[in-house]
Amino acid sequence: MSQKDYYQILGVARDADKSDIKRAFKRLARENHPDVAEDKAAAEVKFGEINEAYSVLSDDEKKAYYDRYGHAPGANQGDPGGGFGGGGFGGGGFGGFGDLFESLFDLGGGGGRRQQSRPARGADYRMGMRLTLEEAFEGVTKEVELTSDVNCSRCDGKQTLEADGFAQCTTCHGTGQLHQQVRTPFGALTQVVPCGACQGRGRTLKKPCPDCQGRGSVEKKRALQVKVPAGIDTGKLIRMPGEGAPGNLGGPSGDLYLAIEVEAHKTVERRGNDLFTKKSIYFTDATLGGEVTVDVLLGQTETLKIPAGTQNGTVFRFKGKGMPKLDRSSRGDLNVMVEVIVPTKLNAKQKKLLKEFAEAGSQDAEPASLFDKIKDALWGGH
Ligand SMILES: [Zn+2]
Ligand SMILES: [Zn+2]
Repeated sequence: MSQKDYYQILGVARDADKSDIKRAFKRLARENHPDVAEDKAAAEVKFGEINEAYSVLSDDEKKAYYDRYGHAPGANQGDPGGGFGGGGFGGGGFGGFGDLFESLFDLGGGGGRRQQSRPARGADYRMGMRLTLEEAFEGVTKEVELTSDVNCSRCDGKQTLEADGFAQCTTCHGTGQLHQQVRTPFGALTQVVPCGACQGRGRTLKKPCPDCQGRGSVEKKRALQVKVPAGIDTGKLIRMPGEGAPGNLGGPSGDLYLAIEVEAHKTVERRGNDLFTKKSIYFTDATLGGEVTVDVLLGQTETLKIPAGTQNGTVFRFKGKGMPKLDRSSRGDLNVMVEVIVPTKLNAKQKKLLKEFAEAGSQDAEPASLFDKIKDALWGGH
């Protein structure tokens, strides 16, 4: 038995990088696929070889092992002495045996081997969804577009339209497995490996569905209507049952999860279910008291009654005027912080009145009527 030269099989140089190897594999797999080749028996052997070569050269660990020892971990290397003689275990000592042993059981034990002949549920999809704070405040129905695999409607995921579309794999005679004799320093082992010609399925597709080329699924752009409940916040997931990847062999579809991200708002900040905003008020209103309108979200306004003597930075709370809670039981609060505006430009009359105000004495003795005059002069009354 001769060592297989995986590089030669894939027709790549020994220093070919991962993408070269992948490209070569894809091309060869297409050309030698038993479903399309004229000499199917020869193509199946060749296809198995290509798969085997790629499974080693595309795996960093297996490739390193192959480059060093001239065969894949656990591969059938024929001559009991010669196989290990070439590269030897070098300075690796018993570490090398350990690695080899692990690799043998990896391949032969079948712990992680995929079972592709049973119906299986499709994968879940996850995608992000951005919302404005207004949309989160009110709730919204949003359309999302996604391009994803859906069951081929022509063959209903069965991969073929014909009753005899599949044929038993001639390499493994339908078992999906091959038995390999492997000689190791511990004696001969029989290992079971998935059949490369049929990827362990035990059958090969002879008459693929023309719409999906035998994949059983097709890529399709879909638009979904997503109902987003009021009160939703960043980090929450909305589940769309059955909108994930189609199942294998008639298994149910997976789900689609939309990961919510609520964008920051220009003037309103959200903390949990509470909202915070700022309102600028004139120093006259802060001093004498007054009434202003606060804009919140979506045209919602609140009337803020400012008590006389309100200081800059005072926070007024509107109970139950914040974000709705997701369970609709109640709402958070709206907090309005006032910023007192001090005028920067004064006309002659305003200056005169403010001087009079200052001269009138301490705050306790301030004449209200004078302050009203100043207010009118400054803002024209409101
Ligand atoms: Zn189809
Ligand atoms: Zn097979």
